Amino acid sequence: MESFAFNSFNSRTIFGAGSHQRVRSEIEGLGARRVMLVHGGAATEAADAIAAQLDDRLALRWSRVAQHVPVPLAQDAREAADNAAIDAIVCVGGGSAIGLGKAIALTHGVPLLAVPTTYSGSEQTAIYGLTGDHHKETGDDPRVRPQVVLYDPGLTLGLPIEISVPSAFNALAHSIEALWAPGSNPFASSVAIESVRHIHASLPAVRARPSDPEARSQLLLGAAMAGMALGWTATGLHHKICHVLGGMFDLTHADTHSVVLPHVLAFNAPAIPGTMARLASALEVPPGSEAEALWDLAIVTGAPTRLADLKSSQGSLTSADLSEVAAAVDPGVNPRPVTSADVLRLLEAAFEGSRPSSSVYPLPDRQVSP
Ligand code: NAD
Repeated sequence: MESFAFNSFNSRTIFGAGSHQRVRSEIEGLGARRVMLVHGGAATEAADAIAAQLDDRLALRWSRVAQHVPVPLAQDAREAADNAAIDAIVCVGGGSAIGLGKAIALTHGVPLLAVPTTYSGSEQTAIYGLTGDHHKETGDDPRVRPQVVLYDPGLTLGLPIEISVPSAFNALAHSIEALWAPGSNPFASSVAIESVRHIHASLPAVRARPSDPEARSQLLLGAAMAGMALGWTATGLHHKICHVLGGMFDLTHADTHSVVLPHVLAFNAPAIPGTMARLASALEVPPGSEAEALWDLAIVTGAPTRLADLKSSQGSLTSADLSEVAAAVDPGVNPRPVTSADVLRLLEAAFEGSRPSSSVYPLPDRQVSP
């Protein structure tokens, strides 16, 4: 067995229906008196309820958020936080609201409490991102990890299904990459595999019955585990590709996962057969067909599978853009060596949206590991 080391963290996670009603008591527990409430437009109802609870401890309410946290937006929010002399931040919403809260926590060193309403997992990590000049910079800093996370499945019942499904694939991407990303370890892998099991089992049910509280709870639990697995490890090739796509073309972050992940999985699978066998069990398919199973789950649940179909503020991506993306991807640590030509091949398959297969990415025997 390989040796390993990882940092666990001192944060509090509360899960259950109605748990957003505990924001005030958790804020009191943190000793905060001047709270900044950050939320996206779609989370207004939940934010209203939380603002009412915070009452005299609410110093500032901020509702302008954007995915990938543009630098000018972070600067505006930080200035407002200064003016209001805040001593804590409560974020209600998806990864965009939590990401903005992290950007403020990074410079202000105040504690963060997160009430996630999507499956992005950002609430469990010390990773932050800021975007300027069509390039997304990410970093890792313990100051941005939320100290308290309140998961309330009731807040996800109204999350539109066309957002829910890609967001669940974002969570799947965290769990699957945690199996081999830098910092990968048996604790993270166990949680990651359990997360895949939960998401795989509950996503079709959420697709069929979006306001079923039990299906939503199981999906949120799987996503919470995915966030933890990511928080204990890091991201890898898949996320590097998605971040370049997001930074360069302003594609919706969550939409890129179901498109890119099956192809990255097909590429890496031949190098890690033991890991793939565990994943196959969680996906309830025979070993060797994990990438296909993910792609099939995307088709069944209506998640995007073609890069060519994704739209951005700059229009659609064209096949001519793929070389530029491939050249900009720094693959980082990966179970098998990756060249720009490999990334281009993956991108071409993702652009076409073809059903992936590991058999098209064979590797020499010497690169196979458990
Ligand atoms: P998001 O926060 O932009 O939310 C997606 C959409 O869902 C938005 O239109 C939002 O208004 C809407 N929404 C959110 N909650 C809702 C609700 N309860 N009801 C109705 N609509 C609701 O997107 P996201 O996918 O959650 O997060 C994406 C961002 O998070 C990206 O910037 C990504 O890079 C970042 N992210 C960061 C980490 C990390 O660890 N730092 C991890 C994952 C994602």
